[in-house]
Amino acid sequence: MTNKPTLAIVCGHCKETVIAHAHYWQVLPEDDIFEHVEVSVSCNNCFKLSILTFVFFPRAQRHTELQKTLLAELESGIPISAKPGRQNPSLTRLLPRGAPYNELSEAWNEAERAYSRNDMPTLATIAYRRVLEGAAKYLDNQGADKKVPLGPRMKSLKENGIISQELYDLTSQALEFGNAAAHESKPLKQADARVARDLAEAFLRQAFSVPRLLLDAKEALEARANEVDDDEVPF
Ligand SMILES: [Zn+2]
Repeated sequence: MTNKPTLAIVCGHCKETVIAHAHYWQVLPEDDIFEHVEVSVSCNNCFKLSILTFVFFPRAQRHTELQKTLLAELESGIPISAKPGRQNPSLTRLLPRGAPYNELSEAWNEAERAYSRNDMPTLATIAYRRVLEGAAKYLDNQGADKKVPLGPRMKSLKENGIISQELYDLTSQALEFGNAAAHESKPLKQADARVARDLAEAFLRQAFSVPRLLLDAKEALEARANEVDDDEVPF
């Protein structure tokens, strides 16, 4: 009997860096672009199960080789060296719907990765602030190229009805401790990073996701109204 293959992950349940044992794996049906290998693993610390998904790009020869290597490691029970592309439960969240992907996804993913490590709250807080700065700059059409500080930019977004008074007030409070973290040697706690994370998400949802959903609904209702009109045209 072979040993269960092992790998090192940050567990999505207990958020610790742990050794996990692989119990079962399968190659998923290939889609248009990617090949996936799904591996179920149990954490050595909290004993809960996670699903790790390794993603390969079959058109690139090197990735096919990497997939073969992963499957060979799983079969022989030796430690796995590849890193999963995704895991469930996930350590990070996706960029909220409607937010401009090209401008914000990199900053958002970096902030989520820093937050998910649980041990770098000051860096995570600064990273969420970068998300806010990118989003505010994107929304501020006239002043995008100018070096306007985040505070005044947020104020004009509030005055233009893009964010609410409450979100503006809370963000202003959080910016104060964010500034202290960035410019003074005053370390933050994970609870502070959580505030930064929640406010950054609230901002993206209010400024981008809600308008996107309303636009989708409006277009669907217009399409529906047009269909009814067509039906009423006599032949
Ligand atoms: Zn765990």
